[in-house]
Amino acid sequence: MPSSTDLARPDTAADTVSRLNAAFATGLTRPVAWRKSQLRALRRMLTEHEEAFAAALRADLGKSRTEAYTTEIGFLVNEIDHTLRHLDRWLRPRRVGVPLALAPARARTVREPLGTVLVISPWNYPLQLALAPVVGALAAGNCAVVKPSELAPATSAALAEWLPRVLNPEAVAVVEGGVAETTALLEQRFDHVFYTGNGTVGRIVMTAAARHLTPVTLELGGKSPAVVEPGTDLASAARRIAWGKFMNAGQTCVAPDYVLAVGDTADGLQDALAAAIREMYGADPATSEDYGRIVNVRHFDRLAALPAGGRVVVGGEHDRSRLYFAPTVLADVDVDSPVMREEIFGPILPVVRVPDLDAAIAFITAREKPLALYAFTASAASKRRLTGETSSGALAFGVPNAHLAVPGLPFGGVGESGLGRYHGTYSIDTFSHVKAVLDKPRLPDTLRLAYPPFTRGKDRL
Ligand code: NAD
Repeated sequence: MPSSTDLARPDTAADTVSRLNAAFATGLTRPVAWRKSQLRALRRMLTEHEEAFAAALRADLGKSRTEAYTTEIGFLVNEIDHTLRHLDRWLRPRRVGVPLALAPARARTVREPLGTVLVISPWNYPLQLALAPVVGALAAGNCAVVKPSELAPATSAALAEWLPRVLNPEAVAVVEGGVAETTALLEQRFDHVFYTGNGTVGRIVMTAAARHLTPVTLELGGKSPAVVEPGTDLASAARRIAWGKFMNAGQTCVAPDYVLAVGDTADGLQDALAAAIREMYGADPATSEDYGRIVNVRHFDRLAALPAGGRVVVGGEHDRSRLYFAPTVLADVDVDSPVMREEIFGPILPVVRVPDLDAAIAFITAREKPLALYAFTASAASKRRLTGETSSGALAFGVPNAHLAVPGLPFGGVGESGLGRYHGTYSIDTFSHVKAVLDKPRLPDTLRLAYPPFTRGKDRL
């Protein structure tokens, strides 16, 4: 077994990829029965070793048992079940009509696997975001190299320990490590690179992939707004925003990043957010079993500087030694301050006042396209306007984050928030090539009319 230092060497990355390419070339991963057996094995690993994975998630992020299950382990089990249930149908060749001039002939599309794919995942949902792409890659018949995030070391180690045991190691490899190891991998030629993380590294990944003309999926982040309109029930809106925002201590790519409080909603909403936070995490969230921790000191220090952009109306307490950062709500936020310029990716929720929906839409469209847009409104006309006049990876009314739990919906960003999509059938689209197949009998040779010499009348055929 190579050590993790060996894996830093480009030749070792090359060995891993050529080993998987060789396995792919044997046809190992093509039979649908094999793909399903791998998915079932992955499912068994998650359920039989649920304790070990939950413990790793707690060690990395202080994740509560319930969150570990609902947002990572259980999420993956659902994704696998959904895939197993529909895979045969998703893979079925599709017949396509043939123009009369080409008849008789049959046309269809067939899905073929791409080959060996690279999955690079981040630290915030370190299990879900490493394995959900693998579910799609295997279901589509590929080999996969998984590079978990070094910033979630316990989960990375658990993946490195279990995946080679439960999945066919000829088809799936885990490479642990950070920038050096990822850079070595990115020098290799893959058939697809699937990256989840920030846009700066997304650009590095895309540049590296371009050298091999390798297609990429980039699952990135950004500032996802939550619009709150007058006439909506502020108590329930606040509970849902607080739930979506403070889950995983705000370190969720689709979490509401900030609130656009329309009209006179800001004051009432701030009060309701304070009540919701108390209800969920108690008077002192530091003592709540259900509240997570910031992943590391670097991210903690970045977050500690952010409240300067507004007035703290809830929370604000933080403790570097325990990586604890209280659920925090900011009011009177300067929209040009860092808290409104960068993705927050932590438990700080700025509330920005806007006079009306026009101003909210103008605020959103003047900025980069977010991964998600949320709106709390009782107005069908407002829903229509937000749907038609804004662009985002996803749009959800009345609830943040939950669109991920609808297995039939695609998950992905647009513009700065990402490129491509996955989950369910969309993962099959991402990890396979849709091949056009045309089959025309040689006789009768109806094409004779199309052959030269182009005598009079042939140009209109
Ligand atoms: P991270 O630091 O764990 O990095 C992600 C991956 O990139 C890791 O595997 C890391 O090893 C690798 N990496 C880091 N620097 C690299 C380099 N210079 N060259 C090559 N590889 C490198 O995670 P992160 O980027 O801090 O994650 C947070 C970001 O990810 C946020 O912007 C968040 O919104 C976004 N995110 C998006 C989604 C999504 O599904 N769209 C999900 C989670 C997080």
